[in-house]
Amino acid sequence: MSRGYNFAAGPAAVPEAVLRQAQAELLDWGQARASVMEISHRGKLFAELAAESERDLRYLLDIPDNYKVLFLQGGATQHFAQIPMNFARRDQIVDYVVTGHWGEKAVREAKTLADVRVAANSDSNRHTAIPARDTWKLHADAAYVHYTPNETIHGVEFQHVPEVGDVPLVADMSSDILSRPLDVRKFGLIYAGAQKNIGASGLVVMIVREDLLVRCPKDMPKIFNYAEHAANDSMLNTPNTFGWYLAGLVFEWLLEQGGVAAMGERNRAKADLLYGYIDNSGFYRNPVEKSARSRMNVPFTLFDEELNALVLKESEAAGLLALKGHKAVGGMRASLYNAVTLQAVHALVDFMRDFAKRYG
Ligand code: PMP
Repeated sequence: MSRGYNFAAGPAAVPEAVLRQAQAELLDWGQARASVMEISHRGKLFAELAAESERDLRYLLDIPDNYKVLFLQGGATQHFAQIPMNFARRDQIVDYVVTGHWGEKAVREAKTLADVRVAANSDSNRHTAIPARDTWKLHADAAYVHYTPNETIHGVEFQHVPEVGDVPLVADMSSDILSRPLDVRKFGLIYAGAQKNIGASGLVVMIVREDLLVRCPKDMPKIFNYAEHAANDSMLNTPNTFGWYLAGLVFEWLLEQGGVAAMGERNRAKADLLYGYIDNSGFYRNPVEKSARSRMNVPFTLFDEELNALVLKESEAAGLLALKGHKAVGGMRASLYNAVTLQAVHALVDFMRDFAKRYG
């Protein structure tokens, strides 16, 4: 069987060129005379890989010098807990803006660790729109404001970075990092699980402003302490070396593609093609308010829900993979991360049009 067009939400499509390169050098990487996964993270060769990957990411996102870049483990979920552990005291207010499932989860994890206040929550409209900024209840003395720029399940995405004054802005960018240009200076901390736009699961990339690291309590386990990870160049213990290597290949690939500006344009074109078709089809629909629609994750349902199972079966058979929606929303979801090509989206729209013609 040949590779299909992969619309998975995560773990998700990896650029084919990256997979081919990893395949070609799996047994014998660079000068190592061994696989990259068989060598010490403390050796010269891996140190070079680490430095180069960080350099490339800094270039791609124009990360200023007063930010540290960390390559961590634990998945984004672990950092839902670790962030309040590091940056807030138990009695301190932390503001959370909830626009979907992952924001809710971040709140749940933080609740035992700090005085969590939900500044805004779009649950009243079932997470189909972003609450207007002037309705948010923020606290000037909050330790930070946390939000999820792109909600992977609900398909809701901020089109601009919200203004929150002097309180550090913390963003879970798991499903939209590197998908378009970003002004890192507007954030105190950005973190992202790697399994969507960076490569393989098991790696979390964090970009954190240095002045925040001063807050990390000394009386916490070292392994959870971000300042310790930063002081040890993300090698406090053995990092996910293979995931880090793959991330480095993805960064190189992004540079070859023209960087995040080019990705942004491509992602816009892919999303416009799919939403444009859905909106005009009279057969499919997307529930999200137009101004809040995600370019990365496009949930859609059929007007005739009875056909859900059939569309999934036929799309899978046609080589269009992983279109089943998350159970919280139902229906279908097409994820259009950087590695998903415009050609793949054309193939999806062609299939959807044909299906609508046959069953509409
Ligand atoms: N945040 C967002 C926005 C996500 O999409 C996901 C995973 N889909 C997570 C957090 C959780 O990531 P992990 O499973 O790596 O903990």
